[in-house]
Amino acid sequence: MLIRENDLWVFVEWKEPDNVSCVSLELLSLGTDLAKQMNGRLVAVIFGEKTDQVIPQLEEYGADCILTVEGEIYREYSSDIYAETLSKLLEKYRPEGVLIGATHLGRDMSPRVASRLKTGLTADCTEVKYEEASRRLLFTRPTLGGNLMACIQCPESRPQMGTVRSGIYPKKKQRKEEIEIRREGVTLENVVPRVRIYKTIREKDEEQDFEHAEIIVAGGKGLQNAEGFKVLRELAEALGGTVGATRGAVECGWISRTRQVGQTGRIVRPKLYIACGISGAVQHVVGMSGAEKIIAINQDRAAPIFKIADYGIAGDLYEIVPALTKKVLTEKRRKTKREGSKIL
Ligand code: FAD
Repeated sequence: MLIRENDLWVFVEWKEPDNVSCVSLELLSLGTDLAKQMNGRLVAVIFGEKTDQVIPQLEEYGADCILTVEGEIYREYSSDIYAETLSKLLEKYRPEGVLIGATHLGRDMSPRVASRLKTGLTADCTEVKYEEASRRLLFTRPTLGGNLMACIQCPESRPQMGTVRSGIYPKKKQRKEEIEIRREGVTLENVVPRVRIYKTIREKDEEQDFEHAEIIVAGGKGLQNAEGFKVLRELAEALGGTVGATRGAVECGWISRTRQVGQTGRIVRPKLYIACGISGAVQHVVGMSGAEKIIAINQDRAAPIFKIADYGIAGDLYEIVPALTKKVLTEKRRKTKREGSKIL
């Protein structure tokens, strides 16, 4: 089976032993629909020392072809080696489009690849569509401080490249009947990595946990101080969720930047998002409007956040949030008691 020019490629990011990044699985799910419209195949591209352990996962997420490049030099990410390898593969196969996660790795590698191939790259997209008539991928990303959504196209050069934010598209399992596993060897001449890694320390990936949390209790400048996050954390813990924040709260130094939701922060799609003391600026809303249910707590009845909330509570968050926490904990205790008495 030959790789065809109207194929769509997704670059898959992963960590040993078999931890495929969520954004890569999200892009494979999006790519399945796009590749169908493009009348091409979805190709998952993966580099690593040994990639066999992740192939079964990629098979579950709609790839028609899994293209692997293996070798010791791919064990850790290197800008020079990864960019050169991907460029060579793209030069050889010339697919129609390439999607890459807008992660640290993706943001570092993609412009290097695009400049080597003299093609266009749209960074940090929040939407990707395909226009059949023009055979173009339509990449949407916020611009002018989030006040405008720009649709960017790459009319002439190929491949059309885009990095896409995590948390925007859902992951969908879908297995193709026929899947090709293609193992490629790439010869790299005169590529000397400029960075050498002597020691790797893997920490728990809190950011990834945050982006994929099912319940987020988020706070804004309405908290008035860092202590306010303690109150939110209590509610989050009672609900089995985590805390998020606006840029306003982050800039006040009340919480880490990794918790910022919005245009310049994370895009989240939890089942429940509780916005406390958050006005609802467009740059914040762009990061959380995909939540299944939004509850807003704000003392200003005219706050824009109420326009997008499913439920709104007008009042002082310092009265409402502790009352909610108390209620949740009481209900939990009651439930445990009921279940306990059933067992007896
Ligand atoms: P405010 O807008 O000050 O709102 C505070 C709210 O708290 C008010 O509505 C007030 O009524 C309410 N309040 C006050 N006291 C209480 C109380 N006791 N109980 C209940 N309610 C109370 N912002 C982001 O969040 N994420 C981003 O990624 C982001 N990116 C940006 C990128 C650019 C280029 C720019 C220009 C801005 C960006 N911003 C971002 C900032 C954004 O425009 C807003 O300034 C910010 O979201 C406002 O934060 P806030 O809602 O916490 O504060």
